[in-house]
Amino acid sequence: MNKPFQFPTLSRRSFLRKTAYGLGAASIAGAGLPMMFGSSQTEQLGIALVGLGNYAKNHLLPGILEAPNCRLAGIVTGTPAKAEEWKAKHNLPDNCIYNYENFDEIANNPDIDVVYVVLPNSMHAEYTIRAAQAGKHIICEKPMSVSVKEAEAMIAAANTAGVTLSIGYRMHFEPHTQEVMRMTRDKTHGEIIFVNANFGFRAGNPNQWRLKKALAGGGAMMDVGIYCIQGTRYATGLEPIAVRGQEFKNDPVKFAEVDETISWQMEFPNGIAANCTTSYGYRIEELHIGAEKGWTNLSPAFSYGPIIGKTHKGPMNIAHTNHQALQMEAMARSIIEGTPHSATGEEGLRDMKIIEAIYKSIAKGGKRIKLG
Ligand code: NDP
Repeated sequence: MNKPFQFPTLSRRSFLRKTAYGLGAASIAGAGLPMMFGSSQTEQLGIALVGLGNYAKNHLLPGILEAPNCRLAGIVTGTPAKAEEWKAKHNLPDNCIYNYENFDEIANNPDIDVVYVVLPNSMHAEYTIRAAQAGKHIICEKPMSVSVKEAEAMIAAANTAGVTLSIGYRMHFEPHTQEVMRMTRDKTHGEIIFVNANFGFRAGNPNQWRLKKALAGGGAMMDVGIYCIQGTRYATGLEPIAVRGQEFKNDPVKFAEVDETISWQMEFPNGIAANCTTSYGYRIEELHIGAEKGWTNLSPAFSYGPIIGKTHKGPMNIAHTNHQALQMEAMARSIIEGTPHSATGEEGLRDMKIIEAIYKSIAKGGKRIKLG
């Protein structure tokens, strides 16, 4: 069994910066963001974003700015023009701006508490391990790595350094998803029978890193199939015992290096099963949970929202909240308070083991692969 992730008790070294926030932050936060500290002041963690691409700029940055207990404290970029732009826009001092060569000097920067790795997948392990060696807490985007071996090395590096490693599984903090988890825990609709999870989109630019195996590690499965694996696991509350996978290619030229479409089945204990599809060829997005006494459906289920949820009784009627702000606030709170959250490195490792098993099944013509 996987050992539960231990969050170390943290020194209050560098996140003692306080900021006034009150009505303003509460109204930004909206209904879903709780006032965590119950006062007009909060401690803020300094976050450094590594890789200033689409997700960092357009989604994580707004989340950091919205989360009352986070602030943008630094950037790591290989693009000098972005360094200039972010420096001016966010008033960053020169000593908080790094590139990939001098990244390790971040160890000497007490303003930076957390390094958030938002690079192409095959770079996650290296920068996570270097961040751990620099003594910084780490948030790493999904997929955690491109192999089980790398994921294990990342967890070991964080444990050795006594820092926390979190994975950017924003759905763990999203209210519809949390309601799905609650209904499963409480058996609201009786025992789960079957789960369908699908997530795909049309990957446009044929030159993007997502289609290069050396940078992406794999195709749709690594990128968005992982949401379906997550979805089946939190919808059932169980770990799969075996998988079978099948691969389909509509455009073998564009998808010469990585998978375009994969369907797979997951067996869980007690005869519970899941059928999933992920694709870079077409758009699909749904999590459907069939249970003895009814069903739950999220569609869309995994993208930035609004997530739309229904059960056999009607709409879920849960307000949309910025996923990245929820995630950042929860992860920062976990570090500040030394309390656990569920989107850990161990959680990422479990998904990497399942992904590797699905690829292995495909390589063996759809053979059933048991999971340990
Ligand atoms: P982008 O291509 O938009 O950005 C990646 C950035 O990484 C680049 O802008 C660049 O930043 C840096 N980089 C360094 N080396 C390379 C290289 N060789 N090739 C390309 N980029 C390089 O990707 P995304 O922002 O969409 O994705 C980044 C990560 O975030 C991925 O792991 C992805 O899976 C994850 N992600 C997670 C999402 C979620 O919902 N949790 C959603 C979207 C992405 P610079 O110029 O600053 O060096």
